[in-house]
Amino acid sequence: MLPKKDKPLFTPGPLTTSETVKQAMQRDLGSRDREFVGIVKSIRDKLLQLAGVSQAEGWEAVLMQGSGTFAIESVISSVTPPDGKWLVVINGAYGERILKILERHGFTADAIRCEENRLPDLKEIETALAGGGFTHLAVVHCETTSGIMNPIRQIGEIAKAHGAVYFVDSMSAFGGVEFDFGSCQIDFLVSSANKCVQGVPGFGFALCRRAVLETTEGYARTTSLDLLAQWRGLETNGQFRFTPPTHTLLAFSQALQELDEEGGVSARSARYQKNHEACIRGMRAIGFSEYVPEDLQGHIITSFLYPTDDFDFEMFYNRLNDKDFVIYPGKVTKANCFRIGHIGDLSGEDTARLLVAVEEVMGEMKVARV
Ligand SMILES: *Cc1c(COP(=O)(O)O)cnc(C)c1O
Repeated sequence: MLPKKDKPLFTPGPLTTSETVKQAMQRDLGSRDREFVGIVKSIRDKLLQLAGVSQAEGWEAVLMQGSGTFAIESVISSVTPPDGKWLVVINGAYGERILKILERHGFTADAIRCEENRLPDLKEIETALAGGGFTHLAVVHCETTSGIMNPIRQIGEIAKAHGAVYFVDSMSAFGGVEFDFGSCQIDFLVSSANKCVQGVPGFGFALCRRAVLETTEGYARTTSLDLLAQWRGLETNGQFRFTPPTHTLLAFSQALQELDEEGGVSARSARYQKNHEACIRGMRAIGFSEYVPEDLQGHIITSFLYPTDDFDFEMFYNRLNDKDFVIYPGKVTKANCFRIGHIGDLSGEDTARLLVAVEEVMGEMKVARV
């Protein structure tokens, strides 16, 4: 019997991946096997290449087991000196999560918050950094909560002007959004296997400025998430310190190759952009509107407002699911929203079919109401 094709995932991850990425996992490779060690090395090199930098220029890609949040916690808990002080720029749930991690570790941290469909106030960041004695600044690149794109280059300029170590959660953007990594002045950027590179879940990675990473000796608060030790392990024998997600790494290696074959980040970004564009046009025609103003939206995921106060999202979601389309509930605090993701192995045709299904479901729900 042929397996039924899985429903396309219009979600922020895990995402729909290609058949060939899934097939790449059908092997049992030893974690100390020379072939596997070579794959890990090539993945690390390729990740730096995607950012347009290299080891020779002072950059390191460190892979860490776990979901994306584990990689964020790895960096935060490993690079903060005893007298460190963080400023977190927050306009969504993922910014809040960074603050929560900082607080859990007992680190000194302040937050600058704004509405989830607004960009942070750069002057406010500037003022805070000028007077607050902050050593570290954190921001989320694409805030997947709403889909808004934060101005990481401008914020990086402010961080550097005040000598703060700059941390960017680019989980949902890296590999799917074109940006000039070099000009953003980032010290630590984190993303994961199952977002825009279109691999399967199992590890995250940090792109680290080596000169900063090397100053963090003795700071790690945990053994398993120790970033410096993980880097040294990868550098000395090419291996993870503890069991690596071998199958996930095989899939990721294939996913990186497919990213190249698609035409690199610019081509992938263009495909996502087309999905996003078609989606908002189609949804508007059906009667929906977006939570984030169009000029602030990224092309990763879109938040749509409920069309009416009594909109039955549960029914909408279930009926779409019955038609084999998976969307995502909302996460913003002040408005009733749901989200449609544009990333993963999704084509313009998938988006068009989703829009047809949304229109059908809206028609059915209208009939159900009378
Ligand atoms: C997906 C995502 C994460 C990590 O989530 P995990 O569930 O731990 O993989 C973190 N930040 C952002 C912005 C994300 O989109």
